[in-house]
Amino acid sequence: MIIGTNSSLLHMKQYLFFAIFIFFFTHHSFAQKEVQSQINAITEKEYPRLEELYKHLHANPELSNMEKNTAASVAKELREAGFVVTENVGGYGVVGVLKNGEGRTILVRADIDGLPVKEETGLPYASKAIVKDDKNTDQPAMHACGHDIHISVMLGTAKAISQLKNQWKGTLVFIGQPAEEKVQGAERMLKDGLYTRFPRPDYCISLHASASLPAGKVGYCPEYSMANVNSVNITVYGEGGHGAYPHTTKDPIVLSAYLITQLQTIVSRQTSPLEPCVVTVGSIHGGSKHNIISNEVKLQLTLRSYSEKVRQNTIESIKKITRGLGIAAGLPESKFPKVEIDNENGYALYNHPELTDKVVKSLKSAIGEQNVEKVPPVMAAEDFGELGKVNPSIPVCMYWLGTVSQEKYDESQSTGLQMPSLHSSLFAPLPEPSIKTGIKTMTKAVFDLLGEGVKKK
Ligand SMILES: [Zn+2]
Ligand SMILES: [Zn+2]
Repeated sequence: MIIGTNSSLLHMKQYLFFAIFIFFFTHHSFAQKEVQSQINAITEKEYPRLEELYKHLHANPELSNMEKNTAASVAKELREAGFVVTENVGGYGVVGVLKNGEGRTILVRADIDGLPVKEETGLPYASKAIVKDDKNTDQPAMHACGHDIHISVMLGTAKAISQLKNQWKGTLVFIGQPAEEKVQGAERMLKDGLYTRFPRPDYCISLHASASLPAGKVGYCPEYSMANVNSVNITVYGEGGHGAYPHTTKDPIVLSAYLITQLQTIVSRQTSPLEPCVVTVGSIHGGSKHNIISNEVKLQLTLRSYSEKVRQNTIESIKKITRGLGIAAGLPESKFPKVEIDNENGYALYNHPELTDKVVKSLKSAIGEQNVEKVPPVMAAEDFGELGKVNPSIPVCMYWLGTVSQEKYDESQSTGLQMPSLHSSLFAPLPEPSIKTGIKTMTKAVFDLLGEGVKKK
């Protein structure tokens, strides 16, 4: 009897626990679905205006550090979504803040600059713009990196999340970041008080258009996903003279040829094969005529890496190799090759694994597991990662937003022919499915992160 009573009590307890669990589980997933259908409805409602804005931005790109009108559009739209907006933060940076009670602070970033590329897509809203760059030179301009998509998604997200205000608490910081293509904007916004004049975020999230994923899909890559970049200028000096009397000269063209082959050994012989590293000599200019040995040759390099150690080692090696070249050539110290490195910072994007896990859950719940792909890291660079490299550090996560038509994607898969990449004059993202997917996923990610509530001290 006693045993019987105990066991039926146990059964009842188990049943009750199970019922409560089922209730919360179904209630929770019902609430999740409910929020997503609200987000989807707002996205559909806001889209026509956003597409107009997108096409306007696409036809009117502005170059790094010159994004005056683009920034004004971002500021105007954020104000309309209910954000308190400050302009001219670290250049043409825009910061919109929306406070809605106690809770997490989430930063969402869109970069806003175009590239000096002449658009060749033939789209009806293609850019024909010729604009001034920050050195006052006329340049063709194009949103060849999809930053116009990023702006449209962020503004759509601002509209959607502010319309759901009665369902979350916390603070939003939405930023339009200038000069990404020069990897300057993030740092300048930080120096201009992004985290002191405005609320300091618990998380930073962002997306980037992908030229290799179909529209409707998104991709994610935990940990290192984009590389450090350093641009390097090297001037190789010589002692010029007649091409027929080489023994009376120090030929900088021959020295440059040595230099280029030696630079290859930084990756192949000095860096662990398990550590990504790229040293590319992208430009070499020297000499004027067949029979003249010139006084100098100029080279331009790009360096890529993930770890700070590899980045530093590559820079140090370049300094050593160039110095050694000067010694071997018998040049005076004043004529040793001059090496100029554009910045002392590493920009590698490290997607915080825990934050990435959370964001991926939101992405899957927004557009379905089958539309969320894990993708490999790339050696392209982005300065978004800078927003996390502060003390104490802030978790950051950037995911990829597919923009390619499924048809073109399938064709490229079957033929092996490459699709136009980011920065290509032919890059033509599909606006509607890309922007809608961006808004649905970004809004859900922001909403879920806000749902974590006040941070435990
Ligand atoms: Zn770019
Ligand atoms: Zn970009």
